[in-house]
Amino acid sequence: MSPSVNIYYSDEYALATGLETVTKSAEVAAAIVADPALAVRLVAPAPATRAELRAVHEDSYLRTVFAAGPGELPTGPRTPALRRSLLASTGGMRDAVAEALRAGRSGSLSSGLHHARRGAGEGFCTLNGLALGALRALRDVASVGILDLDAHFGGGTFEILGEHPQVRLADVSVNGYDQWEPTAPARHHVELVTDPAAYLDAVSRALRSLEGVRCVLYNAGMDVHERAGGLKGLTTEVVRRREALVFGWARGRGIPIAFALAGGYRWGGLTLAQVAALHLETVRACAAD
Ligand SMILES: [Zn+2]
Repeated sequence: MSPSVNIYYSDEYALATGLETVTKSAEVAAAIVADPALAVRLVAPAPATRAELRAVHEDSYLRTVFAAGPGELPTGPRTPALRRSLLASTGGMRDAVAEALRAGRSGSLSSGLHHARRGAGEGFCTLNGLALGALRALRDVASVGILDLDAHFGGGTFEILGEHPQVRLADVSVNGYDQWEPTAPARHHVELVTDPAAYLDAVSRALRSLEGVRCVLYNAGMDVHERAGGLKGLTTEVVRRREALVFGWARGRGIPIAFALAGGYRWGGLTLAQVAALHLETVRACAAD
């Protein structure tokens, strides 16, 4: 049996609010625990701290996120439990990157990252754990890539790290929400896919654009799936092939890779358990030999 892969999750991640972004990680964790054939160990991360978040967010915005008392954040009312969830799942992405650099692969059952800007939350995203994770990687390696295959573009990640010379962004989406314009062609790859038959070729081009980076963060949204909020014709078989393609690419090149769950919703008719089963495809591909 292959050595088990450490994936970050703690009970603090999940809140039973009904919103997939903060609810589904518990379902994915339960599915991992229920599958003894999966060589995965769930590990609790160190929560992100306000001090380290200053590297990716403005102080004035962090004051809003950390304020006591009533208020609204992108995933619901600002409660102590929601703040603990945000800090745990954001810290999980940072720890997953550190673990990938040590062991080659890891992930965190985190969602709601890539639309968050320096000074504002947006689209179910409050804190940009991808940006925090990328900066963690750059403590150890000279270049990092962020592969964003969520159904929507990661305009927040671009706003925070688009100008960073050691960061490459590859963003393939099936929906124009939060699209951004490349400003550095050698480091920025953006594609909007509207034909499901063209999807995996677009993923391959995105991977080619990341050739040579020393670490990859993978925002593995399942909202591309035709029944999870995505594009008609993008089936479970296609997302399964996508995950094999991404992790096979990283493994073949010895590039450390750390994933986040990202989007995946019941809008297209799935149950939460079925959404979790889609995310399990990412976990399986990450843990495969
Ligand atoms: Zn999305």
